[in-house]
Amino acid sequence: MIQLLEPRWLLPIEPWSVVEDGAVALEDRRIIALGNRRELREKYPDAHRTVLPDHVLLPGLVNAHTHAAMTLLRGFADDVPLMTWLRQRIWPVEGRWVDPDFVTDGTRLAAAEMLRGGVTCFADMYFFPAQAIEACLRSGMRILSGQVVVDATTAYANGSADHLQKAARVIEQYRDAPGVHFSLAPHAPYTVSDEVFVSLKVLSEELGIPLHTHLHETVDEVEESITQYGVRPLERLDRLGVVDPHFMAVHAVHLTDDEISLLADRGASAVHCPTSNLKLASGVARFADWLAAGMRVGLGTDGVASNNRLDLLSDMRLASLLAKGSTGDASVVPAQQALWAATLGGANALGLGHLIGSIGVDKSADLIAVDLSDQDLSPMYDVASHLVNCVDRHHVSDVWVAGRQVVRHSELVDEDPAQLRALATTWQERIRSS
Ligand SMILES: [Zn+2]
Repeated sequence: MIQLLEPRWLLPIEPWSVVEDGAVALEDRRIIALGNRRELREKYPDAHRTVLPDHVLLPGLVNAHTHAAMTLLRGFADDVPLMTWLRQRIWPVEGRWVDPDFVTDGTRLAAAEMLRGGVTCFADMYFFPAQAIEACLRSGMRILSGQVVVDATTAYANGSADHLQKAARVIEQYRDAPGVHFSLAPHAPYTVSDEVFVSLKVLSEELGIPLHTHLHETVDEVEESITQYGVRPLERLDRLGVVDPHFMAVHAVHLTDDEISLLADRGASAVHCPTSNLKLASGVARFADWLAAGMRVGLGTDGVASNNRLDLLSDMRLASLLAKGSTGDASVVPAQQALWAATLGGANALGLGHLIGSIGVDKSADLIAVDLSDQDLSPMYDVASHLVNCVDRHHVSDVWVAGRQVVRHSELVDEDPAQLRALATTWQERIRSS
């Protein structure tokens, strides 16, 4: 069955244009045509037509870094810096509570929140990834499942060798699952040894999947690395040969000019998580400089425990504003660039740019419609500017992932909101009582 989506405005992202009164034709999971509405109606006279009279249709947003299951820890640890947050709040509560049920339920809630906010794909990094994948298969959300590796014993595995073995098993089990993609996710340079980074680099090349790690998040991390290894973390990893086009550095708050050039030269990606960096007082990443250097960039929310939401639209707006404020240059990160980073930029970072991130023929039909009829959004002179500077996630009305509609009239098609609230409350009571 062919479907025709007929929005008031169409924003394919690449090539950049705003098409008025256009249409997109979908068949099964894919986009088969886009362009002039009248021509597409003539070409596909029997198609099922969905008119979106006040809407802009664009590719689904790509959340290039999160820890989905941590949605169960929303607001659990505010007002502390990263290392206190991790060592005194997050690691103890995770040690007590993280198990397959925590990940199943936390990821289900995360997927619900992200889909309603226009995010159709996310890069995850968490324990029990098989449970996160199962939650996504049920919700219809696309996932880049990060196979977490740390040298320590966690609720999930004992040391890096066990984490690696489990990673191989999960990848084997779900390699043909629809909408499921993988990365290798060594947690950070301060929790993973040289030897393990090297073996993960070999594996990422073999499998052709990203290597996704936290990097240069805080000044302390950089200084501790100099004390322990004699070099900054990025230089350490580069000497190991890890920094290549598969490499995804998350945060990268503290980069020198040379380090920005190095990441750009190696074809590596960096993921900007502005809210998390502000909340944990880690600093402000040099996002405008990344873009100017031609680095591959994506945007992420990070986990709910350090955001406290999975709202990529608001992180996109913040990324644009912070870049302007921190450089004193109002011309940096205009709406077009911010939208690109939140869609195709993120897709490229995840190694999925061939499949998602823009509206093009043969790409997956991962699409969102944003309703611009709200009085608070008028008048409107520029659709792209509105998406970045005015719209919030409650204006997202309809969402499709691989052609399947998962949000209709701002409500999830396959989830009952009362059930989701009850699930969150159950965990809140459990965790609070511990
Ligand atoms: Zn993170």
